[in-house]
Amino acid sequence: MIKKNHKIFVLISALLVLLFILMPVFNDIIQARPGGGHSYSGGGGSYSGGGSYSGNGGGDGIGFLIYLLFRELPPQISIPLIILIFVLAYYVQKRNNNGRNLILPSPGVQARTVRHNNIDDDIRRLKQIDVNFSKVLFLDFVASLFNKYYTWFGTENFKNLSPFLTSEEINYSENFGRNVRITEIVIGNMRIGEINFLNDTIGIAVDIEANYTKEIRGRKTRYILTERWYFNRKNGILSPEPEKMQKLACPNCGAPANFTDSGVCKSCGTEINKGEMQWFVKKHIILTQSVFRTEGLAHYEPERGTELPVIYRKNMMLYAEEFARRHNLDWNEWTEYFSENVAAKYLLKIYDAWSRNNLKTVRNLLSDRMYENMMFWLNTYKQAGLINKLENVKIRAVRFAGIDLDRFYESVTVRIYVSALDYVIDINGNLKGGSAGRLRNFSEYWTFIRRTGVEKDDYDLASCPNCGAPADNIGQAGICEYCGTKITTGNFSWVLAVITQDEVYSG
Ligand SMILES: [Zn+2]
Ligand SMILES: [Zn+2]
Repeated sequence: MIKKNHKIFVLISALLVLLFILMPVFNDIIQARPGGGHSYSGGGGSYSGGGSYSGNGGGDGIGFLIYLLFRELPPQISIPLIILIFVLAYYVQKRNNNGRNLILPSPGVQARTVRHNNIDDDIRRLKQIDVNFSKVLFLDFVASLFNKYYTWFGTENFKNLSPFLTSEEINYSENFGRNVRITEIVIGNMRIGEINFLNDTIGIAVDIEANYTKEIRGRKTRYILTERWYFNRKNGILSPEPEKMQKLACPNCGAPANFTDSGVCKSCGTEINKGEMQWFVKKHIILTQSVFRTEGLAHYEPERGTELPVIYRKNMMLYAEEFARRHNLDWNEWTEYFSENVAAKYLLKIYDAWSRNNLKTVRNLLSDRMYENMMFWLNTYKQAGLINKLENVKIRAVRFAGIDLDRFYESVTVRIYVSALDYVIDINGNLKGGSAGRLRNFSEYWTFIRRTGVEKDDYDLASCPNCGAPADNIGQAGICEYCGTKITTGNFSWVLAVITQDEVYSG
């Protein structure tokens, strides 16, 4: 009996610790504007990483605890304990709902600039080792893997990820994933958090903001979360070419990921050892997680960050000079041209489409992830019976914050200062939040990408950048129905890839 009491004591302590840890992350989501005017992840500045807790590889903390209780204790003890867990969880959530407007501070400009510069130096070092390294393509790979990880979690297909995951992950999915299904995965912003160079290995940590629906034994819950994924790869190898990075593929032959348990590609028969040709995930942890709610959608906080100085890329002029040489142009003239004909035009058109609740007309201007992201938010508003309006939009200024070049992609980040009427109405036209009469000033960092080698900067935005036909028939996958070509990877024109709010931007 003493032993049993001891076990109960340990489990109750674990329970209390767990609830304590979960408390700060049950914040409400507050969101408006295409890029998440207030904050994508709820609570703002979740990047600070404070109070982070580690989830076990996609595990569900409370679910796992219940599993433990069932396994370790006789039912007459475990069942009352489980009821207690739910009662406590209910009160914790209720209490946190009362304090829903809590805003966590985000790291200051200086801290973010330092972080930005450090990562920048590390990426430059990585490019010296691997001339094929492209941040754009690496993040594409990360997003594909994240998506497939959760889409396939607990299913037969999960073993197709064997070259990209540790065997513990594969076993975890087999043991705990049977009753779990994850759907409607939307990836928000991704940020490289750190890069480590070891003698034989290179490690990159990536913070991923996402949301998805988790179904456990038929019960669906939508979560919004930030995860940190740690990637490793052998030092001294070259990144595969773009086609093998843009979707999850065999790094040898490029066929869609279809592997045996031991990592042999079913198309080319090559055994893909972890980290020898492609990045693999060493581990991943959940930094913040909360249940997704729509109650805060019409709620407006004062803008934060608009007055903060621009965070410029370190040594930006070096890249600018290289860019000017590459394209044989004058940097100052070109930035003026880009500000007017790309940055401002794209923003006005995208905001207009957002207000009309119809992204079809701007599909050609958005990368796939950006589009999925915006669609998700538009649908969220719609389901809540709300519409976010952005009217009288004026561009106050455009500042060049960064430019990046690699073998395959060019990217430009501008900080765009805007004034607009920004408000939320319901389907009957009643004002639910914001102001339809008072202009709101804010700024956002917009990152555009384009394939290296493309020369033309602007084109008629109402047309397909490849064939010139009207851009009225571009499917969700970004393929122009007239020419049958995918036009949203930046192969023909600039596409908007990322929007970051000024109070969290760090490059
Ligand atoms: Zn293959
Ligand atoms: Zn076309």
